[in-house]
Amino acid sequence: MRPKFLVLALAALVATAPVHAQSTATRVILVQAGQLLDRPGRPARGPSTIVIRDGRIAELRDGHVGAAAAGFADAEVVDLRDRYVLPGLIDSHVHLTSDTGGVLSQLEEVQLEPAAKAFNALSNAHKTLAAGFTTVRNLGDRDGVTLALRDAIRAGKVVGPNIVDAGTSISTTSGHMDPALGFRDDLREAFDRHDNLCDGADDCRRAVRRQVARGVDVIKIATTGGVNSRIGAGLGQQMFDDEAKAIVETARLYGKKVAVHAHGVDGVKVALVAGADSIEHGTVLDDEAIALFVKSGAYYVPTLSTVNGYLERLAADPNAYSPAVRAKVDWRIKVTGESLRKAVPRGVKIAFGTDAGVSKHGRNAEEFELMVKHGMTPAQALVAATVSAADLLGLSSEVGTLEPGRRADLIAVEGDPLADVTVLKRVSFVMKDGVVFRDGRGVHPPR
Ligand SMILES: [Zn+2]
Repeated sequence: MRPKFLVLALAALVATAPVHAQSTATRVILVQAGQLLDRPGRPARGPSTIVIRDGRIAELRDGHVGAAAAGFADAEVVDLRDRYVLPGLIDSHVHLTSDTGGVLSQLEEVQLEPAAKAFNALSNAHKTLAAGFTTVRNLGDRDGVTLALRDAIRAGKVVGPNIVDAGTSISTTSGHMDPALGFRDDLREAFDRHDNLCDGADDCRRAVRRQVARGVDVIKIATTGGVNSRIGAGLGQQMFDDEAKAIVETARLYGKKVAVHAHGVDGVKVALVAGADSIEHGTVLDDEAIALFVKSGAYYVPTLSTVNGYLERLAADPNAYSPAVRAKVDWRIKVTGESLRKAVPRGVKIAFGTDAGVSKHGRNAEEFELMVKHGMTPAQALVAATVSAADLLGLSSEVGTLEPGRRADLIAVEGDPLADVTVLKRVSFVMKDGVVFRDGRGVHPPR
């Protein structure tokens, strides 16, 4: 590009820069932290001051430095001297459009317009950010709802966590992502199933390309049945090796990672052999599957919180699930956590993910105590929700730690989360891209 055109192009970019981003430009903020866990996995660095410029971390200083002493007379000072400050949390597995679940979610499929789902997704995005989750990976919805929300958030039109989005999840016909399951024959015809269902390797390549064309960040597939699928066809392998392989190979052509929903161990192995980047749920793992994890370097995302969603819904209404789904729910409640307990001592890489949507949005941090209950230390669970999740999402240079150059995405809690992870359920301060979303006065709308 010739220099003159480059200048014009840059000017055009600046002119269209979101209002939200402009309001943070040239601003210097000093965050004074009582304790600072700048890099989870290493010890906290004690009382510190974070210098933030233009929404990113400029430097870290020891102790509490004021505006004049720091050399930024006009800087805004955020006093968190009585708080424990750490990087914004990352949930690698959410579904922002809903958290009704069970038969109610089936009704939503035929009652709610995409526009109504979009407002639900925005409301859930607010709850998620208020809970301290500044980045999420949305692993499947329909109608492009969270793709549009992702773009609106990035453009500063609305406030929410940064979203890494999978578009619509891919499975085989009658598999976990078949939207028509549980409806009568003539209603099934009304669903657009060609969009995300595939049978045979060629058809599965087409399905991946279809999602790539929509601008997705990551590909999500299912190699096994699903607990919440409205069919009593089990939770074992439901996708052939050549289909899974074709999907991963096609995703790689476009530089996309592949997240794989799998419960049965046969489906876990098919996915790992095909080159999956993460296994979601992984409810049954044996020695061979664990060895495949270690060999391939794939992440395990346990989604233990789903059990909370099931138990609460059943307590409120014993008929919240159809009999076919209920049998799978009961099994999942019984065995959840066993795989994590096996995987941790063997060195499997773990990334934090709740499957919020099955559990309630805004309560993502409940996953921490379940991770600790099933074999992780608080420090390991925090690494899973920061450094490791950032790596899985391909965002290690942007989020997950509080180092110079990273986005100023940070949260504060009262108490040491390395001593008691439940303090993470009571996040009292949230900053994303250098803008305060939550503080002692409440949750703030976009400025
Ligand atoms: Zn899910």
